[in-house]
Amino acid sequence: MARYIGPACRLCRREGIKLMLKGTRCESAKCPMEKQWRSNPPGMHSWRRGKSSNYAVRLREKQKVKRYYGLFEKQFLLTFQTASKAPGNTGEELLRMLERRLDNVVWKLGFAMSHKASRQVVLHGHLLVNGRKVNRPSYRVSTGDVIAVRPSEKSRKYIATTLGDSPPPVQAWLERDPTKLEGRVLAMPSREDVQIPVEEQLIVEMCSR
Ligand code: SF4
Repeated sequence: MARYIGPACRLCRREGIKLMLKGTRCESAKCPMEKQWRSNPPGMHSWRRGKSSNYAVRLREKQKVKRYYGLFEKQFLLTFQTASKAPGNTGEELLRMLERRLDNVVWKLGFAMSHKASRQVVLHGHLLVNGRKVNRPSYRVSTGDVIAVRPSEKSRKYIATTLGDSPPPVQAWLERDPTKLEGRVLAMPSREDVQIPVEEQLIVEMCSR
């Protein structure tokens, strides 16, 4: 399965926002986006570039979302096609579908430090969804789903260490039981639950061409 293996911070600098790809480092002063002299876009003479074209603005919005959720082009376009067939606003539906990815939910439950780590947690088979082992990061959760850590000592120890003594708060559409190492999907995520600033309409305009 293909994955990006280049420097993660470069992606944040390219998009001009914190994509939170590196766990605790993202919250620390070591984050390049916190330093004026390192937060410029990567590449030579990036400061010389002029005004972005309409195409470039739309491309950046799409790339921002792809990189935040860790998707490549083909996977992203397949999700977009499914979202465009659903009733309602395509842009919002696209973001809601991406929010429901199992790797994203695992990160939001605090079972992993970053999106990248949560993908690994899922791929390594540490989780059960409704009692069944699921090792597909793109699995889309539904209301009522229970995401639990596998009852193996290795898995439970790993997730418990990640959660720590003061686990981060979870969003209202999710519920976490830190003692059982279990999470539950209470409702479908809303547009407000998407944490990156994005203009989804620009993505729709880009992908509908
Ligand atoms: Fe790097 Fe995280 Fe900062 Fe992004 S938010 S630049 S991944 S440390």
